[in-house]
Amino acid sequence: MADDVFYRVLLIALYAMFFGVRGYYRFLKPRQVEPEPAEVERKAFGKAEAVMIFAILGYFGSLILYLLGLSWFDWSQISGYPESIRWIGVVIVLGNIPLLGWIHRTLDRQYSACLRIKESHLLITEGAYARVRHPMYTVLNAFSIGISLLTANFMIIGFAILVAIPFHFVAQKEEQMLLETFGERYSEYMQRTGRFFPRLRK
Ligand code: SAH
Repeated sequence: MADDVFYRVLLIALYAMFFGVRGYYRFLKPRQVEPEPAEVERKAFGKAEAVMIFAILGYFGSLILYLLGLSWFDWSQISGYPESIRWIGVVIVLGNIPLLGWIHRTLDRQYSACLRIKESHLLITEGAYARVRHPMYTVLNAFSIGISLLTANFMIIGFAILVAIPFHFVAQKEEQMLLETFGERYSEYMQRTGRFFPRLRK
């Protein structure tokens, strides 16, 4: 694992870029525009969220073990892992960082870490949301899968895949909430967009 130092440093640099973009839009930019409005509705925590939290803890837990470079964690490194796959991971991660910025800019103050409708919540159907209903979920999952490919560690790869699965259910719940709020406008928007990827056919 000692020869993995380069990749570990690269991983930290990529996460710093990611949190730089996310932190800017979450904590710095909104305050300059207007104060966060009071929440009016918040969806209940369910099974999908529980699986997601378990997977996220597993993902970050194994990522920390990987970064610490502890020799007893070496068993989880995939032997004979191709260098090219690590670099495919790096390319995926780098491609998703500007996308994350674009998505946050488009969603603006409609963003929240939990599902909720804010006061005077606007329905966004433009920019990053013109063709995909959940671009942020796509980008977050692509990012963690990219990172996992970079590590060549099957625990991290496994947890990154496990994190992605419950997003399907969270997205369904979110769509239900937006349908209740925006009715016809959201159902029309659903017809012309894809959930995680753009629709191929009209
Ligand atoms: N699921 C979206 C947004 C994640 S942030 C994505 O992956 O890009 C979560 C919040 O975004 C939810 O509380 C929801 O109220 C809000 N949201 C999701 N889609 C929206 C849209 N098209 N317009 C306005 N708000 C939206």
